[in-house]
Amino acid sequence: MAKNVEQTLILFKPDALQRALVGEILTRFEKVGLRIVGTKMLAPSREHYNAHYEDIGKLKTRAGDQIFAITLDMMEKGPVIAMVLEGIEAASLVRKLVGATEPKSAAPGTIRGDYSHMSYGYADDEGKGIPNLIHASGDAEEAKQEIAHWFSTDELYDYEAIHEKFTR
Ligand code: ADP
Repeated sequence: MAKNVEQTLILFKPDALQRALVGEILTRFEKVGLRIVGTKMLAPSREHYNAHYEDIGKLKTRAGDQIFAITLDMMEKGPVIAMVLEGIEAASLVRKLVGATEPKSAAPGTIRGDYSHMSYGYADDEGKGIPNLIHASGDAEEAKQEIAHWFSTDELYDYEAIHEKFTR
């Protein structure tokens, strides 16, 4: 892979599938020129989410037991679509497109800002996990760990995308 070209993991969370927004959101990633290199639909176990959100993401350490538990409960509300995207500095690019964790603070034009509006205050009062449509790896290093956790190497594909003549 060329220097500065990275792969990053996204998850279409249960709320994205249940609201039938997968196609509309995926179009945003395709339009900026990211290449889809792997994808699958699955309903992972609690252990799989524990490893994703704590061993790698350190959510329990950062946010505490309660928020960790409600986040896992929310992720178990339905299947997710996992996807690996590739592009120039893809991890930070995808985070920019996804927007801030709290939908109310997420900028207009971002996926979370355009398709959700919940605040931390409301979620915490209601004891709810924040349904914010997409998970995206925090940085390139975290992306490597998450991709290895969600995909085997034979589930990732190399091919030529015609638009890359213009986008990279
Ligand atoms: P991000 O998904 O933006 O990387 P975090 O890793 O901090 O953010 O949190 C993981 C997920 O846990 C969030 O996307 C959200 O769904 C949920 N979450 C985080 N903090 C809270 C909170 N205070 N209340 C409810 N849910 C939360």
